[in-house]
Amino acid sequence: MTPTTIDIRRTTTPRPRPNESELGFGKYVTDHMVVMEYVAPQGWGEPKVVPYGPLSLDPAASALHYGQAMFDGMKAFRQQDGRVALFRLDDHVRRALVSTDKDWVPSSPATALYVRPVIIATEAFLGVRPAGRYLFYIIASPVGAYYAGGLKPVKIWVETESVRAVRGGIGAVKAAANYAASIKTGEDARQRGYDQVLWLDAVEHRYAEEVGTMNLFAQIGDELITPPLGGSILAGITRDSVLRIARDWGLNVTERPIALNELLEASKQGTLREVFGCGTAAVISAVAELGHKDGRLVINGGAAGPLAEKLYQTITDIQYGRVADKYGWLTYVS
Ligand SMILES: *Cc1c(COP(=O)(O)O)cnc(C)c1O
Repeated sequence: MTPTTIDIRRTTTPRPRPNESELGFGKYVTDHMVVMEYVAPQGWGEPKVVPYGPLSLDPAASALHYGQAMFDGMKAFRQQDGRVALFRLDDHVRRALVSTDKDWVPSSPATALYVRPVIIATEAFLGVRPAGRYLFYIIASPVGAYYAGGLKPVKIWVETESVRAVRGGIGAVKAAANYAASIKTGEDARQRGYDQVLWLDAVEHRYAEEVGTMNLFAQIGDELITPPLGGSILAGITRDSVLRIARDWGLNVTERPIALNELLEASKQGTLREVFGCGTAAVISAVAELGHKDGRLVINGGAAGPLAEKLYQTITDIQYGRVADKYGWLTYVS
């Protein structure tokens, strides 16, 4: 499947372009979307690029009732020479929309085109079983820096009661239902003055798993630690990039459980150097404060640490083509 063989129906009413300094995250969409339908038993139809617009769904479509829906998220970056490249495409899936809407890829520092593939069950049937009909579509949104002001450290609420995902469940994939399960807790944390939630494991409520919708890293002494992928944690592509780069730098990197108590103890001992989250949207997000039932813990004096800064710089240098792509993570689409 190459872009040239795809049926492309261009819009006759292009949208006004937002100002690049006011992009924010997820507020705007581009002119087109990709749609492709699956109907059992025939299988997938042809992908099409069509003007962006509402979907028509049967009210009984099972995605609307039972959450049979999945998504992904990746970014396309404008290179210094003007070309456009997707980051680690092979680890996502091959796409064609980015070429059609390449003029929508912003050029200002820290901006990108966020690409959102989605699959939803569309069969009109009220029974609970895998649907026989699906719609796959891709939309794209020009975005600014996830946190306005660059690597702004975030304040995180440590959640000890409700859980995001449980081992044996669907936490390891980007299933829409996981996010439904996290929204109320996230909102409660915001009411308390925190930006995101630190999720603990669902069984013992002892081990740190993810931060918001990001994977988690902590640096204690000389060890850089991230929780292992045990079924309840998403295997983030940014997490994998951090692991590759940190190992190349010769850092002592381990994938092992991190107990909340270990973080609190290390903080007391003065060995907790940094905590940060990572994901496609924010790249790296330094954690300045962990608030929990019994108090609050300020990390690195409330500032982004040197390791988080250096990883952010290194990953974004690769993404924007400011340094050689030695890992082969970019796919040029223009
Ligand atoms: C998307 C996501 C991540 C980050 O994954 P990337 O592939 O790096 O974008 C981490 N945790 C959760 C729960 C996610 O949804």
